[in-house]
Formats: sequence, structure tokens, C-alpha cells
Amino acid sequence: MLYQEIFDVIVVGGGHAGTEAALASARMGLNTLLLTHNLETLGQMSCNPAIGGIGKGHLVKEIDALGGAMAIAADKGGIQFRTLNASKGPAVRATRAQADRQLYRQAIRQMLENQPNLRIFQQACDDLVVENEQVTGVVTQMGLTFKAKSVVLTVGTFLGGQIHIGLQSHAGGRAGDPPSVALAKRLRALPFRVDRLKTGTPPRIDARTIDFSKMQQQPGDNPTPVFSFLGSQKDHPTQIPCYITYTNEKTHQAIRDNLHRSPMYSGVIEGIGPRYCPSIEDKITRFADKDKHQIFIEPEGLNTHEVYPNGISTSLPFDVQLEIVRSIAGMENAHITRPGYAIEYDYFDPRDLKSSLETKFIKGLFFAGQINGTTGYEEAGAQGLLAGLNAALYAKEQESWSPRRDNAYLGVLVDDLTTLGTKEPYRMFTSRAEYRLMLREDNADSRLTEKGRELGLVDDVRWAAFNEKMEQIALERQRLKQSWVHPKHSALTAINALVKTPLSKEASLEELVRRPEINYASLMQIADIGPGLVDPIAAEQVEIQIKYEGYIQRQQDEINKQLRNENSLLPSKFDYQAVKGLSNEVIAKLNQTQPETVGQASRISGITPAAISLLLVYLKKQG
Ligand code: FAD
Repeated sequence: MLYQEIFDVIVVGGGHAGTEAALASARMGLNTLLLTHNLETLGQMSCNPAIGGIGKGHLVKEIDALGGAMAIAADKGGIQFRTLNASKGPAVRATRAQADRQLYRQAIRQMLENQPNLRIFQQACDDLVVENEQVTGVVTQMGLTFKAKSVVLTVGTFLGGQIHIGLQSHAGGRAGDPPSVALAKRLRALPFRVDRLKTGTPPRIDARTIDFSKMQQQPGDNPTPVFSFLGSQKDHPTQIPCYITYTNEKTHQAIRDNLHRSPMYSGVIEGIGPRYCPSIEDKITRFADKDKHQIFIEPEGLNTHEVYPNGISTSLPFDVQLEIVRSIAGMENAHITRPGYAIEYDYFDPRDLKSSLETKFIKGLFFAGQINGTTGYEEAGAQGLLAGLNAALYAKEQESWSPRRDNAYLGVLVDDLTTLGTKEPYRMFTSRAEYRLMLREDNADSRLTEKGRELGLVDDVRWAAFNEKMEQIALERQRLKQSWVHPKHSALTAINALVKTPLSKEASLEELVRRPEINYASLMQIADIGPGLVDPIAAEQVEIQIKYEGYIQRQQDEINKQLRNENSLLPSKFDYQAVKGLSNEVIAKLNQTQPETVGQASRISGITPAAISLLLVYLKKQG
């Protein structure tokens, strides 16, 4: 049966990528359908209930700056908030929230249900309708065909999903959910490069069977950090602590004794797992000299006794899981509520995607999230937003948009994936960005909100709040630049109490803020100088802009130099044999990747500066 209404954009999958994709497309005014297996699992966190962290928190802020949902849901669902790397420089500071699974899901669902232009439908998508290398719709499990101008696939770990616990395995998309078998088969028949990856999760524990007195309590920060640029502490529910405990020699012995029963070590699992989120069996094998590993006991929510022991992800058999858990201080009598498991699934080589996340072989078909070889809610959400907005632009027959590496972590993520591909689950880190100082959490809005507004992603409320904040910052910077303190100033004694060497000549307030020993907040407490900005987020911006001005300018100069290459577009479906002087190896690599710009070509491994010069000469000749 053909569904009567024709959509602009169909999004398949209601996980983190799918919800952001559907919301983005609908925010841009396009008639959008979100098709997913189960409405009860919209925005479900498959693994640990936490949002953010280093690199990931940056992505969440960027999603928010572009009008997305993740930061708002994290504020409404967060039950323990922390700023990681708080004592380090602003580039690597990162927000993290432990979330109440249910509250997070509720917040996402509420946003989806209240989003104009968006329809939601519960059904598995089993097939794609492709005509003349162009996607025109999808077919559901019950044979219903939905037509659309573009389709975004965000099916997570579900494609050919196989769950492993010890040497037993069964088909599944994640615990409790069916896999996508028909769709996986259909996609494997299309000309995409496909491979298998693996990820895992720990057993969950009943908190009533844990002795928390043997563990170290870890409260959240006070005041609690806020994720969304529109959020406030008032959005946060009750805050509760996490706990810390450790594995020990007994734990490690139990694992070593049973490695032959692990599906990973006995060769049953072929997919590669996440390097930075390894299973406990991986940790004790790879770091054999360590006598303990830290475990965070994280609450799953305010209205449940279940906790998530972060750090002991495992696919060992259940009896070994029990032995591992009960060897750990505080968990001697623990009851496991759900066993840990590993899952293997299909992913597609992201080098077969354009930077808009549209596939290179099927027009109008976009991929986002775990299907592209990434791991993590934040990586998925960010890609979802990008794919959703580009699917909308495609439906409107407008040019695609993707941020550059110096605009956003989202730009770094997409460029890494589409240029280099990935052989293991890819997660974001601040170390992946070369322009870290420009890509801070605190300035995600000044980097992206204006573009979001232009694309139609940012509503009037966010736009007004953004402009007000930017104006406050500009006015305050002007005031600090133009206000001078001279040696007879009434505030001199108070200022001298803050500095190492007393002020001997006139200084502007801006110069004072630039001094390492002075911070903006303490300076503003001085009568005749303060009170300055009331909004601590805007105040932080002013302080960072002033203190790091020199470094920021240097990075901007580097970016400007690099832009020449980024702005030089390469033809699509181009045979690089035509460029004289390139080696066969370089030709093969360029032909395989088909980079969109000279900048992207320069980041492909093995592409030398000499090859880039030849490309630039060739482009110049072509005019
Ligand atoms: P998902 O969140 O998986 O959502 C996919 C959605 O698509 C689901 O709603 C599903 O029902 C729907 N769907 C699938 N197929 C179809 C279909 N044919 N038709 C309609 N709907 C469909 N990340 C980490 O960062 N660290 C970890 O330690 C970690 N461990 C994990 C452990 C496990 C066991 C699992 C399953 C995941 C783990 N993850 C981890 C990954 C994290 O859950 C994902 O990165 C993230 O959820 C990916 O988001 P997504 O939107 O791409 O897919």
C-alpha cells in the first residue's frame, strides 16, 4: 500500500541521530516523517545514561547552538552534573551529565511530539525505494510505502545485530529490541563498502544490594553546570551522587581464568570494538601491569534502584559476570538485574559519504550515527542534525552545508569520517581538533547560531537570547577597553590586593583582566569597577576572549592560511589520472576518496604537499 501523503524528508530510526535529524528537518519547515521500530524507545540510551564529557560535551553544545534537542533533554534529565578538566584551559573544559534515563527519554519525546511539521510512525523499515540511483521512499515491515524527496538512515547498532553473552549469541538490535535484518540485506546489495563493528555494555546492578560505605562518594559540582545556552539550573531535577570503586586482583584472575569463554578472545566476534571504551577483559589484557581499574557506580535514575557500573563492560558468560561483580569492594552481595553483553553490527564506510552525509552513490540518501562507524550518543546526535538539515536542503533543491574543521567539532567529526574512514568505533576527543582554542564549549553559540538561524534551525526565542548575549559581551568588552584605572583611582587599594606587583601607571580594565592573577569575577567585586556582567556565561566569554586574545589571533591566522585549500573545490566523480605528475598511489587514493576540496585531499593519508601543489596548479589552469 502507498501512503497518500508525500513527505519531504523521511528519517528512519528514533535514536540520538534520528531524533536530531527529524527535528532539524521539521524546524526548517519541511514535511518530515520519523519512522522507528518502537515509540517507547525514542531517545533511548542504549548504554550508560550520561551525556557529554571531553570532546562529546563540545558536540552537545554545538547541537544546542544549532537549535537541537540533546542539551535541553540533558538539562531536564541530568541528575549529576560536572565540569571535567575544570582546572585546565578553556579549550578542554567539558560538561558531563549523568542522566535519569526515563526523564531524558521523556524530554526527547515531548520535543518530538510538539514539533510542528513532524509526524511519527511506529514500524520497521525493511526496504528503500531507489529509482535511477535516487532514493524516493521506504517500505515498512507491513508493506506500507512512504514516499519522500530524501531519506536519512539512522539505524544504530541494529543492522544485522548479533548479541553475544559468553559463547551464546542471538540476533538483536540491542537488548530487548529486534535487529534490522531485511534492511541490512538490502543495504548490502547497494554499492557501499560494509564491515562489522562491535560494542558492549556492563551488567546492571540493584543498588539495594550494594554497600556504598565501601565506596568513595562523588557528588556533582555546585553550582551545577548547565548544558543548553537557553537552560538554567532551574531545569535540573533532584541531584544525586555517583560512587567510585575499583577492580582488584581477584577480579582480574576471574577474567584471566575465563578468557577462553569470551566471544572476543575465542574468535567468535570478528568486529572491532571501541578502543576508548574497552571491555574489562580488554583492559586487563591490554594493561596487564595495572593492579586495579576504576569503576564509576552511576545511578540509572531517580525512581529506580538500578545502577550502571561504568568500567566493567563485558561479554563474558553470566556466571563469570557474577564472579567479577562480586569480587569488587561494595558489591560482594550484588544482584545483577541485567547481564552485560556485546553486540556486533554492520556499519558503512563513511568515505562513501559526502560532507553533507549524503551517500555518494544514491542521491537523496543520507546516513547518520552509529551506521557510519561512530560510537556515542553525542557523535550520533551531531551527525543526525547535519544529515537532517542537509536532507531538508536537498528536498528544497538548495546547496548543502557542512561546518569546516575550524568552525566546529562537528566539522572535525565529519571531515575525519568522510576523509579517513574508520576501522574501529570512532569517538570524539578534543585532541582530534587542530584548532581547539577556537572550538570551545563556551563559544559554540557564537560559532554556529548565526548559521543555524540562516538555515532555519534556530527559533525566535533562541535568536533573541543569542543576540542579547552577544550585545552584552560586546558592550562589556568596550567598557573594559575604555575604562582606565590611574594611580589615584578610588579602587586602587582593592586592585593592588589582587595583583602581584602594585599598579604604578595607568591601566585599562581590559589590561587588568589580561593579567594571570586577576579574574573577571574578583575584579567586578570592587566598587567603582563592577558589577559588570550578571550572566556568568557571558562573563566567562569576556574573560576568555581577553585572556587568550593573542593565542586566538594566532590560531585565526593559521586558519586563514589553510582556507585557500578549503575553498578550492575539486570536481566530483573525477579521474585524477588527468592531473599530470601525480604518482599512481596518489591517483588511486584520490580516485577512491573523491575529496570535495583540496583541503580534504590534503588530509588523506599519503597525499603529499607536492601532490597538493600539482592539484592547485591543475585547478588554476582549468580556471
Ligand atoms: P541508536 O541509538 O542505536 O538508535 C537506532 C534507532 O533506530 C532505534 O530507535 C531503533 O529502534 C531504530 N531502528 C533500527 N532499525 C530500524 C528499522 N529498520 N526501522 C525502523 N527503526 C529502526 N556508546 C558509547 O559512547 N559508549 C559505550 O560504551 C557504548 N556502549 C554501547 C553498548 C551497547 C550494547 C550498545 C547497543 C550501544 C553502545 N554505545 C555506546 C553506542 C550508543 O548507544 C550509540 O552510539 C548511539 O545510541 C547511536 O545512536 P544512533 O542514533 O546512531 O542509533
